[in-house]
Amino acid sequence: MPTDPVVLLHAWEQEPAVDHHCHPLRRWPFQLTALELRAAFTEAIDRRIPQEHVLQTAGYRAALRRLGDALGCEPTEAAILDLRNRAEPAEFANRILQRTNTGLLLLDYGFSGGDGFSPHEHARVVRVPQREIVRLETVAERLVAGTSDPREWLAAVRGALRSAVQAGAVGVKTICAYRADLRLRPVDTDQLGVAFTMLRHKAERQEPIRVTGAALCHALLFEAAAECRELRVPLQVHCGFGDPDEDLAEASPLGLRPLLQDKQYAGLRLALLHCYPYHREAAYLCAVYPDVYMDLSLAIPMAGDDGAQALKEALGLCPFSKLLYATDAARYPEVYLVAAAAHREALVIALGELFDPATALDAGRQVLAANAKRLYRLDG
Ligand SMILES: [Zn+2]
Repeated sequence: MPTDPVVLLHAWEQEPAVDHHCHPLRRWPFQLTALELRAAFTEAIDRRIPQEHVLQTAGYRAALRRLGDALGCEPTEAAILDLRNRAEPAEFANRILQRTNTGLLLLDYGFSGGDGFSPHEHARVVRVPQREIVRLETVAERLVAGTSDPREWLAAVRGALRSAVQAGAVGVKTICAYRADLRLRPVDTDQLGVAFTMLRHKAERQEPIRVTGAALCHALLFEAAAECRELRVPLQVHCGFGDPDEDLAEASPLGLRPLLQDKQYAGLRLALLHCYPYHREAAYLCAVYPDVYMDLSLAIPMAGDDGAQALKEALGLCPFSKLLYATDAARYPEVYLVAAAAHREALVIALGELFDPATALDAGRQVLAANAKRLYRLDG
């Protein structure tokens, strides 16, 4: 007998989620525009997409409907923006975040659009408990100027990751898929030397440092993997779905095979982020490697009904003990709200169709919080 969706949703209300992959809010005060709200629901960089097309997506229409319901107004941009822009920002943000039923935020500060709250400010203004995930590439870029060769640089990066974890970070995240590709290959030391020298020259000229290309990014990823294994913290790897800065064709998690097969990384825990449309590949990895976990995060609010469908497809192979809840929300509380509601509903649909009522109930609890608590050792 299929599980009653209302019963499941209601039962999970007692289950504050661990949002294991999200980003800080934009520093207030500001007046949110329709274009900014639309831009929060697309991965497009080209402004014509939010200007002309986002309003024509199922995901954004569903977002407006959810926001209208939650705020008690018409599900239109004008009504939603009018209400939120007149509200006191801290009160509004905390009220909206409270509705997401989140018990803990694991925040990556690497993406904030340059005007996000700092970790210190965020902890002060947002009344949801929070921990930090340290972003590998950001740490590495800061350390170029103070080191003279790749070996010294990579050692400094490992030291910085260790310090961040000692200071309370619960994991490391890499955006290697954006900066290079995920087809991991052994690092060519000559190429690494040349690429590092070019970065050093930029640092000397005080130009912005951006770590890109396979030589630098793969070397960093291998070092971070070794360090995470030693520190016993998970390594989050962005794969699949993202903005067009990344080559989606090269962002399948299957390219991470060297980390999974090489004995020197045995015991390293990997959390695959986004995954869509490679969620089946990610689910396969979860099914065959004990230390691989996955989420569908951003695909769930953005892909409309396909989010729930993808969740169900992932659960074909991925054990529900390895699926993680995440909003990947950033900047605006509205995005948290929409992603949280969509994620819980998608779980109801997928788990309700796949399992008997008691199993679906238990599986949802694991996905919403228990799996992340175990993976990030959040209970002590
Ligand atoms: Zn993210």
